[in-house]
Amino acid sequence: MDPSPKPFEKLPADAELGLPVPFGCGTGEPGTPPSARELDKRRVTQCALSRVCGVCGAGLGRPIAFLGSRTEVDRNAFHFPPSHVECAERLLSVYAVVDLPVLGQPTPVDEWVLATTAGFEFVRPGKEDDDRRPTFQPNSLLDTRTFSPTA
Ligand SMILES: [Zn+2]
Repeated sequence: MDPSPKPFEKLPADAELGLPVPFGCGTGEPGTPPSARELDKRRVTQCALSRVCGVCGAGLGRPIAFLGSRTEVDRNAFHFPPSHVECAERLLSVYAVVDLPVLGQPTPVDEWVLATTAGFEFVRPGKEDDDRRPTFQPNSLLDTRTFSPTA
């Protein structure tokens, strides 16, 4: 079983970066050190189906926050699981300055976007999709805010 919800301060530290590893991240392999580089597929699905936060693992209310790159916002398809607004803000406050691909992103993100919504669809990839990962598609965005290293 996955550990019970953990507040931000109690999240495990990434072995390489020393930063808190959100609930939705990890290699998914038992015995490997915590890593914020990749998304843990099983936990991403758990977040989607059980409606729990991708950062702390506790139940979600509304609004729901999604964090991602400008490309993800433009496509309305996020990879990082839904989060509490406060959890997403805290996560971005430490990750916005990291110049490495983290939180499931294929490349370093210059400008992170925190989007809020009242609901979302969990979309599994089709056979023809190059990206084999599921995405989260917000119904409509209530608000978007950007986080960049200089902000
Ligand atoms: Zn949370």
